Amino acid sequence: MKKMKELDKLNVGRVIYHVSLKEYTTYRVGGIANALVIVDDKESLKKLICYLEEHQIKWKIIGNGSNLIFKDGVYDGVLIHLANLNDMKIEDTQIYVESGYSLPKLSIKAAKASLTGLEFAAGIPGTVGGALFMNAGAYKSDMGYIVKEVTILDENLKEKVLTNEECDFHYRTSYFKKHPKCVCLNAKLQLKRGVKEAILAVMEDRKKRRIESQPLEYPSAGSVFRNPEGDYAGRLIESLGYKGKLFGGAMVSQKHANFIINKDHATASDVIHLIRDIQKNVKKEYGIDLKLEQEIVE
Ligand SMILES: Cc1cc2nc3c(=O)[nH]c(=O)nc-3n(C[C@H](O)[C@H](O)[C@H](O)COP(=O)(O)OP(=O)(O)OC[C@H]3O[C@@H](n4cnc5c(N)ncnc54)[C@H](O)[C@@H]3O)c2cc1C
Repeated sequence: MKKMKELDKLNVGRVIYHVSLKEYTTYRVGGIANALVIVDDKESLKKLICYLEEHQIKWKIIGNGSNLIFKDGVYDGVLIHLANLNDMKIEDTQIYVESGYSLPKLSIKAAKASLTGLEFAAGIPGTVGGALFMNAGAYKSDMGYIVKEVTILDENLKEKVLTNEECDFHYRTSYFKKHPKCVCLNAKLQLKRGVKEAILAVMEDRKKRRIESQPLEYPSAGSVFRNPEGDYAGRLIESLGYKGKLFGGAMVSQKHANFIINKDHATASDVIHLIRDIQKNVKKEYGIDLKLEQEIVE
């Protein structure tokens, strides 16, 4: 804890101590983190990680917290926020974007520049970094379809450029998920020329579909489980009568069984209890191990 108090002296960005994780996650659950640092820039990020590694302090990058469940106690480490890494440039059909940039905002910018390929991202409330990490996607598309290359800080704090192939994108996974000490700094995306009005119309239509089918009026972190091969997690969960099932303040959505919502001051334990209960019963009934799409942070 003493070393934590020295974070201020590093001059790497804004340091917030004892931060409520409810404020940094879309589920609005979880306890507190010892500290959160909004780093000023890439060099500050390197300096901070170097310091934390040297002092064996746990750390984690946090984007928009839209795929994370922090437990109710204390996250005994430092969260690193990349909100200041948010440069973006469109050149012809390519986009250079830093990892703190908002994904839905980027999809609108692309559409307005008559570029097609990012329509899927309009309703995914994350950052570019979070989307690269878990290969976010929807409507049969994902980051893997549009990434040309990603610049990372590797485990040795060296900058490295990974090609699309090296990013190893697959359904909701990537190279980054397997290397959690790597940080995505920026990406080059390759889109295609399209017709602005048609692109915006597709996005509008999907927005309507999301509003109709997802409980966007409540805090959540999107789909809880990955779809098992050839089936839908939502279908399996619904078939077991889970829609509307409450535990504490958490509830399986009545609109979409693969969403757990924070109905009324839920705790992380409430959400995790429902997750484990669903996994147990889906296994018992169908013999299927539902894999979490969301991440429980220890
Ligand atoms: C209403 C709703 C709808 C959603 N719909 C979808 C959907 O259709 N498709 C979909 O795929 N997801 C969906 N999600 C889930 C979520 O928005 C995505 O997974 C998103 O990509 C997470 O981005 P984030 O910035 O919030 O990441 P976070 O949740 O903050 O972090 C997720 C992981 O990424 C890591 N990470 C973040 N930034 C970096 C970085 N720069 N370098 C290395 N690692 C990093 C974090 O350490 C963490 O392990 C939805 C969520 C909500 C709330």
